[in-house]
Amino acid sequence: MRLICSFFLLVAALGAETADWIWTGRYVVTMDAQRRLIDNGAVAIRGGRILAAGAQADIEKRYQARQRLDRPDAILAPGLISTHTHAAMSLFRGIADDLRLQEWLERYIFPAEARNVTPDFVRWGTRLGCLEMLLSGTTTFADMYYFEDVVAEAAKEAGMRGVLGETIIGFPSPDAKTPRDALAFTESFLARFHDDPLIVPAVAPHALYTNSDETLKACRALANRHGAPLLMHLSETRRENDESLAKRKMTPTQALDALGVFNGRTLVAHAVWVDEADLAILKARGVGIAHCPSSNMKLASGVAPVVRMLALGLAVGLGPDGPAGSNNDFNLFEEMDLAAKLQKVATRDPRSLPAEAAFEMATIRGARALGMEKEIGSLEPGKRADLISIRLDRPNAVPLYNVYSQLVYALKGCDVEDVMVNGRLLVKDARPLTLNAAQIEAKAREYRAQVQKSLRGMP
Ligand SMILES: [Zn+2]
Repeated sequence: MRLICSFFLLVAALGAETADWIWTGRYVVTMDAQRRLIDNGAVAIRGGRILAAGAQADIEKRYQARQRLDRPDAILAPGLISTHTHAAMSLFRGIADDLRLQEWLERYIFPAEARNVTPDFVRWGTRLGCLEMLLSGTTTFADMYYFEDVVAEAAKEAGMRGVLGETIIGFPSPDAKTPRDALAFTESFLARFHDDPLIVPAVAPHALYTNSDETLKACRALANRHGAPLLMHLSETRRENDESLAKRKMTPTQALDALGVFNGRTLVAHAVWVDEADLAILKARGVGIAHCPSSNMKLASGVAPVVRMLALGLAVGLGPDGPAGSNNDFNLFEEMDLAAKLQKVATRDPRSLPAEAAFEMATIRGARALGMEKEIGSLEPGKRADLISIRLDRPNAVPLYNVYSQLVYALKGCDVEDVMVNGRLLVKDARPLTLNAAQIEAKAREYRAQVQKSLRGMP
């Protein structure tokens, strides 16, 4: 009998496929179409992609891995997807808070940017942003800022996935005198990162109210020529909407639609002041939305109608927005928690935006918002191996009755233990493997002194 058993084990071992990695965990949250939640699960990975996610016993039978990561007291989940950031602004974290948006921009951010934002600033700021994002479980970020080629280099060096676009804006910026310069820069940026395994280059006009109609049309045309997504801000504040109605007799959504800006892959950030007609347009054009609850609350912008958006089936992801004044950190665990709670307050209904829906926004629905749902957002065979483990051995993690409730309402970014992007381990035991944390933090303190000095004498 024993002999027969050994024989079958041998056959099983010989028949096993090779894998680069097997990760095992107490729970595997797949976020696949069936929303499979696997007890004592495992994920097999090869060549940067997921081979299978299933019961540990099953996976062990089918695959023989060169490397393993066993987390018997952790959740394995898809890497979190941040759909709207300005990563390099991390060096302005806390520069000025609790101010009206216009005052914050005009008195602090614009002068601070004009005097400090250089390629070196953007490199260290993005490194700092990537470090914080990775340590709190974010594996993909959609970003728009200046010197976006440097953002892309820093993201690749960290090993993170980025959907990145150079901000195109109708006044002189730190790296472009005119929108025409920014468009020309974007054209070469699109060519340089075309087919990159980690970077999806994008076209990123800042907003309707900061660009001419001609620039916006040129942005759309450029994006479509390169098959690139277009990222922009939309209807963040009531003032933006009031001004558009006064000037054009149209909401910003209607105006952008009339200009043809939504004729192609698009992701808009905020969409706070959108009415039913606007939502119908966004739905008809397949526009993805980055919901930024921390930012909308901190700047008192308003509450995006997320419950309605989800009911309409819109692709809504989550974003922390910029870390300087509008948030001030990059923690998607916080955004999930706040997104769920903000909708409950706004609708006065605790059933609004349940935990599972919030987790979906941080994963597969966020992937849809970026038009990347075939590649990322869930743990399924064939998808990119972007995954995280979250420890369950801390006071805020026990007892566990419902995995989604725990993920959204109890667990924190600092509970993330391991992070993999594209099959490469970037964080292990909550320690970064690709970024030098001590060096990055020292640089951030250095920049603080420089920024402070540059603002001296400001009114
Ligand atoms: Zn923003």
